Amino acid sequence: MKVISIDIFDLTPELGNRGIAPICIRINTDAGLCGFGEVGLGYGNAHFAGTGIVRDLGRRVLGRDPMDIEAIWEDLFRNTFWGMAGGTVINAGMSAIDIALWDIKGKALGVPVYQLLGGTCNEKLRTYASQIQFGWGPVKQYLNAPADYAQATQDAIAQGFTAVKVDPLGVTDQGEWVRSTEDGSWRLRGHLPSKVLDLACARVEAMRQAGGHTLDIIIENHAFTDTNTAIQLARALEDFQIYYMEEPVHPLNSRSMREIRDNVNIPLAAGERIFTRWGYRPFLEDRSLQVIQPDFCLVGGITEGKKVADLANLYDCMVQGHCCGGPISTAAAMQIETAIPNFAIHELHSGALKAHIRGLCKYDHMPEDGYYRVPEAPGIGQELSEEAMSKADHYLVC
Ligand code: MG
Repeated sequence: MKVISIDIFDLTPELGNRGIAPICIRINTDAGLCGFGEVGLGYGNAHFAGTGIVRDLGRRVLGRDPMDIEAIWEDLFRNTFWGMAGGTVINAGMSAIDIALWDIKGKALGVPVYQLLGGTCNEKLRTYASQIQFGWGPVKQYLNAPADYAQATQDAIAQGFTAVKVDPLGVTDQGEWVRSTEDGSWRLRGHLPSKVLDLACARVEAMRQAGGHTLDIIIENHAFTDTNTAIQLARALEDFQIYYMEEPVHPLNSRSMREIRDNVNIPLAAGERIFTRWGYRPFLEDRSLQVIQPDFCLVGGITEGKKVADLANLYDCMVQGHCCGGPISTAAAMQIETAIPNFAIHELHSGALKAHIRGLCKYDHMPEDGYYRVPEAPGIGQELSEEAMSKADHYLVC
């Protein structure tokens, strides 16, 4: 079997760098089998690089046997000059190719990918409702009042979720996303103004009261805070029994992370902007993170994601895949999370509830009563719909 071409789909080109706009690929073979992958750049401001990197790396995969996944990963890592340097764009491209190759292998062998990763460790995947500050439903909002955070929490609980995640600092007291404010009144570095800290605590307190003590609350900082303000916030929130705190500081500075860990009684998590074993090594060796959050469409695909998860297990570190993309991303995460013993919890981002995301693929996999079950179809168990592919901006590597 040989790879003969790669299709690249910019699935919602009208969104570009705004919102969640997934970029997916399809690797085609001379045997008629194809596999799907996702480039983890469907948000943030690297959208067009996401299609470009697959055009660059994809040429090295043409003519290869798609079953030789490890050898192809090593080739992209060692022989492209930039592969060993890592970075977001390179790893996103490598990840998409790797996931698509695993999809092909599973289909060729007639088994779901998790069976090739060791089989079932987790029959169902406890799932949390992620990014409550955007509301919990089909329309994105920017919640401001604590009562609105309580209502969104109750909306998630009503669907069966027993865990939620919120960024209590992300929406200003003017109801705007923090990055859009320029007057300095909502500062999140240096020292938190009292009004910021008070409103953040009031939002979390409202969620705790809405959910009671059986609800697990994850705090998301989006690395908006620095070492000082992260410690300040964490100490103020310790009484609310926080499950863990995500990206409290710059995601590549393990010393800052360790300083926060030494000063607060909340476990720390990060990983959506950390790639490969080489990136995770310092955080694991210094025990600054208790939960890692690799995005399998960024960390180096299923091949590298499984190795990172196994490495984390050595350090008693749990794994929560970062899911903030399209349904292919979710499918890849579920395959690994099913197969690893140190699985923590699965992320369902509020963006994944939106119609333009749910409509991209053949199957609308959603959790039931707060749990996902991995699809049993061969491969990753998900494919783009013909309609989505026909509407996409399309590039071909052949
Ligand atoms: Mg995050």
